[in-house]
Amino acid sequence: MRPMKVTSCMRDFHCPNCGQRLTFENSACLACGSALGFSLDEMALLVITTGDDADRAGFVSASEYELCANRHLAECNWLVPIRTPTWLCSSCVLTIERPNDADPAGLAEFARAEAAKRRLVAELRELKLPIVGAPGPVFLRVISKAPVEPAATGTTTVGAVMMRSA
Ligand SMILES: [Zn+2]
Ligand SMILES: [Zn+2]
Repeated sequence: MRPMKVTSCMRDFHCPNCGQRLTFENSACLACGSALGFSLDEMALLVITTGDDADRAGFVSASEYELCANRHLAECNWLVPIRTPTWLCSSCVLTIERPNDADPAGLAEFARAEAAKRRLVAELRELKLPIVGAPGPVFLRVISKAPVEPAATGTTTVGAVMMRSA
């Protein structure tokens, strides 16, 4: 088997409203202030609008999409359809254990680990590689030295990858 040449396939990101060049992690445009969220399906940052311009290219309505419930805890800027049961994006929902709320050092590392994981999940999607383990979805335990707590409810551990955050 030939070694696969892996280069970062992350593309540039731009504000759909004003064209400002942005990074994968931005949740607001640095130039026009538009609220932004990342769409894995579109592999782009989209403007979350509360106005009547949701049909503009690159815009979604705030009545249909919001930022992931981990927007503060994990600085997650991914879009989630409003009625998603877990309120978590398709990256955050893969994490079933995280450092507990009384572990600030662990939580800081958790945010860093989740940011790296979002990039990985997006790159896997761009490479058209499935995010699965055997025999089912991959779930992650983001752990630290302190006790951890369940991160997402309603999931079952099928396979686990340990990401040491501390
Ligand atoms: Zn902008
Ligand atoms: Zn998320």
